[in-house]
Amino acid sequence: MNIPIFVPHAGCGHNCAFCDQRSITGAAAPPTIEEARATVEKYLSGKGEKNAEIAFFGGSFTGIDMELQRRYLAMAGEYLSRGLVDGIRLSTRPDYIDEERLGLLAEYGVTNIELGAQSMDDDVLSAVKRGHTAGDVRRASQLILSRGFTLGLQMMTGLPLDTPEKALATAHEFAALGAAETRIYPTLVMDGTELAHLWREGSYRPQSVEEAVALGAELYAFFRRSGIKVLRIGLSDSEALKASCVAGPYHPSIGELIKSRYIRNQLEPLAEGGHLKISAPKRAVSRILGNRRCNAEYFKSRGIILTVTPYEGPVLVNGREGTDCD
Ligand code: SF4
Repeated sequence: MNIPIFVPHAGCGHNCAFCDQRSITGAAAPPTIEEARATVEKYLSGKGEKNAEIAFFGGSFTGIDMELQRRYLAMAGEYLSRGLVDGIRLSTRPDYIDEERLGLLAEYGVTNIELGAQSMDDDVLSAVKRGHTAGDVRRASQLILSRGFTLGLQMMTGLPLDTPEKALATAHEFAALGAAETRIYPTLVMDGTELAHLWREGSYRPQSVEEAVALGAELYAFFRRSGIKVLRIGLSDSEALKASCVAGPYHPSIGELIKSRYIRNQLEPLAEGGHLKISAPKRAVSRILGNRRCNAEYFKSRGIILTVTPYEGPVLVNGREGTDCD
């Protein structure tokens, strides 16, 4: 479980064409140290969860003032050294990684560093005024790994000049760079951003939900095959997000739709004589049926009858093991 501490837009001197940090995090100012501490206390006392990690998200953590970083990290490091949390993770930009910054993160026991790479295609990065190159992602990834941190690389799909082929190439390069974790974000067009302007003047066409789901399922399959943990697909839904999103593949359960599609893709070739008879552990049943039974409906429309029987054991499809549907 993550204990999320959102540090919105802190330290960011950039203005990426897609970014509207205010509605993504639902907050305008970074929390004080005491507010951040209160968030940690609330999670730890309320949920009694094990394997908690303190996670600084929402902006470019290593871009903020070093002294403020130190104060956030000292607070988090206290919980880590007392054994109350298992890790500290943060997200940042690849060009805000250097030896000095990594030294500070190491001092307080940061375990996981996630980079907002977004794409490994320089034309895409330049089109969205990202302010860094794919080369910066490569350099930062090597530095992070050389200091023993766990590397996460986050990507977006559907940005201007991006294509499904470029997105898949980005995923392949993440694997080659040694990422252990990833997040996939289909691009939403937020009001007030440059992307919204491009969309309104007709020079940018966002992905449809179907396009985002089809590509997302391919990426998800690749990352699973490569042993890269997919920590999240799509932004967390919220009233602020919904209110600010003017175009793009918005769906409150986009991540579930993508995982459902991944399972559908796994199962479809295994149908025999118009049947998919599946036995699966209880926890996998709803995912196999799909978000709002979308997989069951899809197979029905293709003349395939999907039946799922709960049982404790590996997933069996038409009596055979070996399908990754969990
Ligand atoms: S996406 Fe990150 S780097 Fe870009 S403007 Fe937003 S906070 Fe800054």
